[in-house]
Order: sequence, then C-alpha cells, then structure tokens
Amino acid sequence: VKVLLTGGSGFIAAHIVDILLQHGFDTVVTVRSEEKGKQILKAHPDASTEKLSYVIVQDVAKDGAFDEAVKSSPPFDYVLHTASPFHFNVQDPVKDFLDPAIKGTTGILKAIKAHAPSVKRVVITSSFAAIVNPDKHPKVYSEKEWNPVTWEEGLDHSKVYRASKTFAEKAAWDFVEQEKPNFDIATINPPLVFGPVVHYLNSLEAINTSNQRMRNLIRGDMKEKLAPSGTFLWVDVRDVALAHVRAIEVPEAGGERFFVTAGFFSNKDIADVVRETHPELESKLPPKDSPSDLPKDIYEYDNSKSQNVLGIKYVPLKKTVVDTVDSLLAVGA
Ligand code: NDP
Repeated sequence: VKVLLTGGSGFIAAHIVDILLQHGFDTVVTVRSEEKGKQILKAHPDASTEKLSYVIVQDVAKDGAFDEAVKSSPPFDYVLHTASPFHFNVQDPVKDFLDPAIKGTTGILKAIKAHAPSVKRVVITSSFAAIVNPDKHPKVYSEKEWNPVTWEEGLDHSKVYRASKTFAEKAAWDFVEQEKPNFDIATINPPLVFGPVVHYLNSLEAINTSNQRMRNLIRGDMKEKLAPSGTFLWVDVRDVALAHVRAIEVPEAGGERFFVTAGFFSNKDIADVVRETHPELESKLPPKDSPSDLPKDIYEYDNSKSQNVLGIKYVPLKKTVVDTVDSLLAVGA
C-alpha cells in the first residue's frame, strides 16, 4: 500500500514517515530540495528505495505543482498533505501564507482527481487554528466549531496563520462537496504540537515554530519571567503523526475532522517538569514560584472522537517535555 506525504521535511511529517514505515506503507515524500530529500533517506538507511523515496515539489502554491508528484508506479492509495507554512515571519500575508495554504490544498486535490484515480483517501493536516474562536470561546471545543475569521481580518499579520489554516480546510471540504471526487478526505486538527525534533533536519536556530518555547526556556530566555503561554491546548507530535496514519487505516475516519489534543498546559507546567527532570538546567529556568497564566475558568475540550475512532491514547505532558528537551540538548541546546 503506497502513500504520498507532502512536506516531508517538516517537524510533524518526520514523525509521520517513521509511523508509515513501521506500519508497512511504501512512502514517497515531497520535499523542496534534493538536499532535504537526501537527508531523509540518509536517516532511514534500512528503508529500500521501494519503501522510501522523495520527489521535489518546490512550491505548493504554484499552479499544477503536484501534477507530476501524484503520478506513480505502482500508483498511490493514499495521500497525506501536511505542507503549509507555519512561522510568524509575515512579509506578505497572501503570498507567504494564504496562497500556499489554500492553493496548496486545492492544488493537490485537483491533481489527485485529474491524475491519480487510485487514491482512496486524502488526510489533510489542518489545525485547532481552524476551530478556535479567540474572541468568543464556546463552552466546549470540539470538531463542531469553526474559526469565524473573515478574509479581511485574516490579512492582519497576527491572524494570518490561523486564517490560512481555516480557509485551507474549508476549501478542502468545499472541493469534495462540489467536485465529488473518487476519494474522501479527513482532517487532523491539532493545537500546539510539542515533541522530539529529529536531528537530521534541525539546528538550534531552525527549530520548528511550536517547539521554540521549549528551546527558549532551556537556553534561559525566560529566566527573569515566563513568556505568556498564548495557547493553552497542546498535543505530542507522535500522537499527531499516529492520528494521520490511523486516519488512512480506519475506514470510518473518512469524511471526519479530528480534534487531537492531550489537554491544557501552561509555560509554568513545562518549566516545572524541566526543573524536576533536568536539574542541571535549573540556572536557566524562571523562579520556582512563577505564577501560571492558565485561566481558572477556561473553556472545556472534547477529544473523544480522536480516542474512539482513531484509538489515540494521549502521551502525558511530562513525557513529551522530557523527550523534547532531550532532543534539543542532542542538537546542541
Ligand atoms: P514545519 O515548518 O516543520 O513544516 C512545514 C512543512 O511545509 C515543511 O516541510 C515546509 O518545507 C513545507 N512548506 C511550507 N511552505 C511550503 C511551500 N510553499 N511549498 C512547499 N512546501 C512548503 O511545521 P510543522 O511540522 O509544525 O507543520 C506541519 C503542518 O502541521 C502544517 O500544515 C501546520 O499548519 C500544521 N500544524 C502544526 C502545528 C504545530 O504546533 N506544529 C499545530 C497545528 C497544525 P520547508 O521546510 O522546506 O520550508
């Protein structure tokens, strides 16, 4: 059974590759350069060319970007689409975020419909960003909620990442409704993702966005004062990766969104774990009695669908923090 995984050089995708190989899938990843493709192959010396290979897709926003990548022999059975910009270095909101997120998503769906009739399901990495309503939280967050952001609001630099994920996911559901392709889709909607970085793709300066607070904490950036947590829901990258793979393995996952979260956290909780498990980092950490900024009256969350349908058993915060910090120390933190 053969899978195409886009954005193979990404933080989450690196873990998806591991799980796809463990579960016996033949995997082709898309990457933006030969160099990244070669790094991925080098990190999996046991995988034959049949088991793991790469194709170059330079820019997902370009018309027809995926037209060649989706063609393969033997043909693909499933596609996992993770490639999308996630950073806060906004120059041009449309060019940097909205185009790659939205056109990348519709572009791959169009390419599959036109050139890859064997594909049965496409799993798309969406986000809690497409669920959250930051101005008016519901009592309980679940897959039923949608971020109500408008296009005009989304052009605001502080909102454009969330808008890009919202519009990209909407575009995917609209595509399926209007085009009635041979495949169905499922979306995975994680909040902030923490977890081990893979050594072969990382330097300390180029740590993926959601792990940056862990790096900042252990290098002493929060020594005087904890940075605001900002988001209070999190999930381990290995659970996110497994959710993607289960979403192709479990027939009932088709046509569903999955809100994958392990629960609440604050930066104070992360600092407490590091203090306990890595005493040698004590001098870098904020004062022990720093207050937590997790609100007492925070909304609730319902992650039951991810547990019932995909069978995810969430990794607890302590394990995630320990494994993440160890991986950061291994790349030189
Ligand atoms: P990374 O930045 O590590 O991965 C993003 C991937 O997308 C990279 O492989 C990147 O390639 C690729 N990419 C970005 N823009 C383009 C483009 N224009 N053309 C081709 N490839 C592109 O982040 P994550 O692994 O965290 O993110 C993966 C997915 O998960 C994204 O869809 C993100 O929105 C989503 N997500 C992440 C969360 C998190 O907390 N980490 C939370 C919720 C959702 P390159 O590295 O070569 O630029």
